[in-house]
Amino acid sequence: MDFELSEEQQDIKKAAQEFAEGEFRDIARECDINEDYPPSLLKKGAELGFVGVFIDEDHGGAGLGFLEHALIMEEFWKVDPGLGQQFCSVTFGSEEFLLFGTEDQKRKYLPPLVEGKSIMGFAITEPDAGSDTAAASTSAVLDGDEYVINGSKVMIGNGSVADFMLVFCLTDPEEKSKSGRHSIMVVETDRKGYDADRMHGKMGLRASDTSNIFFSDLRVPKENLVGERGKGFYQLMEFFDRSRAYVAAHGVGLAQGALDMAAKHVKNREQFGQKIASFQATQFKIADMATKIELARTLTHKACSLLDKGRPDTTVTAIAKMFSGRAAVEVVDEALQFHGGYGYFNDEDVERFYRAAKVLEIYEGAKEIEKMIIGRRVLGRY
Ligand SMILES: Cc1cc2nc3c(=O)[nH]c(=O)nc-3n(C[C@H](O)[C@H](O)[C@H](O)COP(=O)(O)OP(=O)(O)OC[C@H]3O[C@@H](n4cnc5c(N)ncnc54)[C@H](O)[C@@H]3O)c2cc1C
Repeated sequence: MDFELSEEQQDIKKAAQEFAEGEFRDIARECDINEDYPPSLLKKGAELGFVGVFIDEDHGGAGLGFLEHALIMEEFWKVDPGLGQQFCSVTFGSEEFLLFGTEDQKRKYLPPLVEGKSIMGFAITEPDAGSDTAAASTSAVLDGDEYVINGSKVMIGNGSVADFMLVFCLTDPEEKSKSGRHSIMVVETDRKGYDADRMHGKMGLRASDTSNIFFSDLRVPKENLVGERGKGFYQLMEFFDRSRAYVAAHGVGLAQGALDMAAKHVKNREQFGQKIASFQATQFKIADMATKIELARTLTHKACSLLDKGRPDTTVTAIAKMFSGRAAVEVVDEALQFHGGYGYFNDEDVERFYRAAKVLEIYEGAKEIEKMIIGRRVLGRY
C-alpha cells in the first residue's frame, strides 16, 4: 500500500493549484455576487489540460484517472468552490459515454469537452423525483426512428449553457421492476422543444449554472440512446460510483481552503493581549479540523484509486462522499467561527465557503442516501 502521490500526480496538483491561485482568487467574489463565470476561463483551463483528464487518449483526453481528476478538483475547490464546481460540471456525465457509449458517440461528444469547445450536463432530478431517481417520469417514447421526449428536470448543472445534455428518461413504464424502466438519452440543446431557465438565488456555488429544463415533444434519433434501453438505472448507479468519488474531493478542497483561512486568521488576530492561535482551545479545534480533512482525503484517494484500478467499491465511495461532505460543513463552520463577526461579511472568503459547503450533503446523493447504501451493504441480506 502506497500512501504517496507519484511525481506526476504531485506535478498535476501543483499545476492545478497555481492555475486556481492565478485565475480564480481575484475574480471569485465578483463571480459569486454576479452569479456568473467567464467562459474564457473554462477555455483557458481546458487548453492547459485541466478538463476531463480521466477521458482516454483515443477520445481527446489525457488518459489519466479519477484520482488525478480529484486532485485537480481539490485544488480548484480550495481556492473557490463556485468556479471549481463550474469546471467539474462541464464533463459531468461523460463517464456514461466512456462506460456505455458507442464508438460514434464517444468520437462525437468527448473530444470537444476536453478541448473546452463544448459543455455538457446530466439531467436526472425532477420535481417529484429527487433522491428517488427511479421515480423519474420524463418520458421518451419511440416513434419510428426517433424518441419523443416530454417532461421537466430541476436544479440541473449547465442546463442553460450546455451544448448537450444526458437525460434520464422513462422509456419502459410497463416494466415490473422500477429499476428496469429508464434509459439515458443524449439531447443536443439546440433541438426544437428544449427550453431552460436559469435558477437564481442559490445559497452557494453561485458562479456555477443551475437551471430548470423543459422538454416539449423534443425529438432525437434513436441512435441518441446511451447504453441499453431499460438499463438506465443501473448505468446511473455506475455513474454515481464515479461522480461521488470526485465530489468527495470537492469537500476535501473546500475544507482545506477553510482551514488555511482559519490558520492565517488566528495567527494574526489578537484578543485578550495574545494571538487567538495561542489559546489551547484554538489549537484543539485546528487539530480536529486537520484530522477530519486528512481522513476525508485518505478516503477520497482510496475510492478514486480503486476506480482507477477497475475495482469501483460502492461502499467506500459512499463513505468517502458522506464523510467529506460532513467534514466540509463542520470544518468551515469552525473556520467562520474563528473569524468572528468579520466572517459574517462577504469581504471574507470564508463566508462564501460556508454557503457553498451545505450542498455537499445534499447533491450526488443526500447524506441519508449514502448512509442507506452503506448500511444495506454492511448488513447484506437478512
Ligand atoms: C447546486 C445544485 C446542483 C445540482 N445539480 C444537479 C445536476 O446537475 N443534475 C441533477 O440531476 N440534479 C442536480 N441537483 C439536484 C440534486 O441531485 C437533488 O437536490 C438531490 O438528489 C436531492 O433531491 P431533492 O432535492 O429532491 O430532495 P428529496 O429527495 O426531496 O430529499 C429531501 C431530504 O429528505 C431526506 N430523504 C430523502 N429520501 C430519504 C430516505 N430514503 N431516507 C432518509 N431520508 C431521506 C434527506 O434528508 C433529503 O435531503 C443539484 C442540486 C443542487 C442544489
